[in-house]
Amino acid sequence: MWNKSFQSILGYSYTQNTESFSQAYNPATGKKLEGKFFNANLDDINEGCLLSQKAFYSYSKLRNDTRALFIEEIASEIMNLGNDLIERCCQETGLPEQRIIGERGRTVAQLRMFSSLIRDGSWLEASIDTEETDRKPVPKPDLRRMLIPIGPVVVFAASNFPLAFSTAGGDTASALAAGNSVIVKAHSSHLGTSTLIASAIKKAAINCDMPDGVFSMFYGSGRTIGQALVKHSSIKAGGFTGSTHAGRLLFDIAANRKEPIPFFAEMGSVNPTIILPEAVRNNSDKIANSLAGSINLGAGQFCTNPGLVLLIKTNGYDKFIDKLNDAISSAEPGVMLNKNIFNSYESDKEYLLNEPGVKFLSKSKSRKNNLNVGLPTLATVEANTFLKNSKLSNEIFGPFSLLVLCSDIEELQKVIDRMEGQLTASIFTESSEVEEFRLIADILCNRVGRIIVNGVPTGVEVCDSMQHGGPYPASSDSRFTSVGTTAIKRFARPISFQSYPEEFLPDELKNSNPLKIWRIVNGTFTKKMD
Ligand code: NAP
Repeated sequence: MWNKSFQSILGYSYTQNTESFSQAYNPATGKKLEGKFFNANLDDINEGCLLSQKAFYSYSKLRNDTRALFIEEIASEIMNLGNDLIERCCQETGLPEQRIIGERGRTVAQLRMFSSLIRDGSWLEASIDTEETDRKPVPKPDLRRMLIPIGPVVVFAASNFPLAFSTAGGDTASALAAGNSVIVKAHSSHLGTSTLIASAIKKAAINCDMPDGVFSMFYGSGRTIGQALVKHSSIKAGGFTGSTHAGRLLFDIAANRKEPIPFFAEMGSVNPTIILPEAVRNNSDKIANSLAGSINLGAGQFCTNPGLVLLIKTNGYDKFIDKLNDAISSAEPGVMLNKNIFNSYESDKEYLLNEPGVKFLSKSKSRKNNLNVGLPTLATVEANTFLKNSKLSNEIFGPFSLLVLCSDIEELQKVIDRMEGQLTASIFTESSEVEEFRLIADILCNRVGRIIVNGVPTGVEVCDSMQHGGPYPASSDSRFTSVGTTAIKRFARPISFQSYPEEFLPDELKNSNPLKIWRIVNGTFTKKMD
């Protein structure tokens, strides 16, 4: 099936230009994979954006349950791709089959979660304040507010989640659920996987009679077509997961447009993991093993990878380091997602290990000799040196962690206080360390999006209460999450209807509450109908 050429998906049709093409590589062998993917040009982008805008007008007006059916159909069509999807995705990413099968499960579950969210409708934050004609000194008008779709959304697929944060991943699912048309910029390192998923979305759109252009996907470089998509006046928001460099650049482009638009970028994070003294003394085996597993999970290519471990030099800390070294030395490394990511891992690591005061600690002794294998590695530095060199807190994307040794709790507080925004922080602690815990947790609340107690940061649950996004540079807007049901709020905007005739109001705001959703009516949370 791959011995042919593919064109970008332009709604229900395809682009036509054959100027240049991209190919995917197997990172484990370095060999090109079959399939030529023609890069879109700027005319294609313009056509796709205009089509997306046209589709938005009708798609955004569909009933929630009609959109929910479409999103469920995407999930079914992804499952119908069967083993072809798993096989191609493993080849393109170097990730093991079980991981890809698990990620497909998560992708499909996310789609179903958003479809049930929009069937329910309570996420729209509908509120009603009825008029008070006799209020003094002026009468109060009838006001009703809810969220509506924001407009066509561009999604930059992530390299490290080829399914769950790619073509039909969390960004696409939440944007479609909110009622927006979507254009995906396919990630260059898993083009075949993206093609299969896009074909499933297209099939679902046809099966459900969705407007032409509700979904499009373009192949090509971020620098040309990616930037052109963000600049196009039809695009009203963006979602991104990747490097701080590209995320910030695209955010700036979005902000500098004649009509600035929100651009939700989830970028770098070192996810500090703090191990308080009693936990070091009582639980060093358990913590060392789970931390080593987390550092090496998915070849360290998770945005929640624990890149920084903070310890106080008290009784037993050296034994803990020995145990962590042992666990890292015997860890089995994985193939990294592509040659560029592997090369960046190697050069970033080398740079850091050559910085004054940084000492190499250990690395995996595995003799695995595939290409692009990311060896789990540990290094250490004293906190006073760390505090003087801001480069030591940069993310090294891969199975690497830097241990920062603090002389006491005050120095530990200082290190945390100077830290940039993070997606997560973990605190390993014992119940006797109440005061220390409070001191650390208080500062962390201003730095991170999620605090974990006695657990590693990897493993991001997809649910209502998840916050996956933190103060800059972890993400471009710490008020929002890219995982969980509230991710949908990124792609909706509020509108108020004042003194609006009942028959023209959306169903969500009608007196009779025909959709039976939760609303705030004159200050009371209720499902009550008129
Ligand atoms: P990336 O280089 O940031 O690329 C992500 C997306 O942005 C791709 O679609 C890419 O297009 C596009 N892009 C890159 N440079 C651009 C530019 N100058 N203008 C417009 N678009 C641009 O991320 P990646 O390829 O996934 O991995 C590279 C690095 O990103 C890693 O080494 C790691 O540091 C970081 N990363 C971080 C996370 C995280 O969650 N924190 C996740 C993944 C990656 P092309 O494909 O055409 O380049």
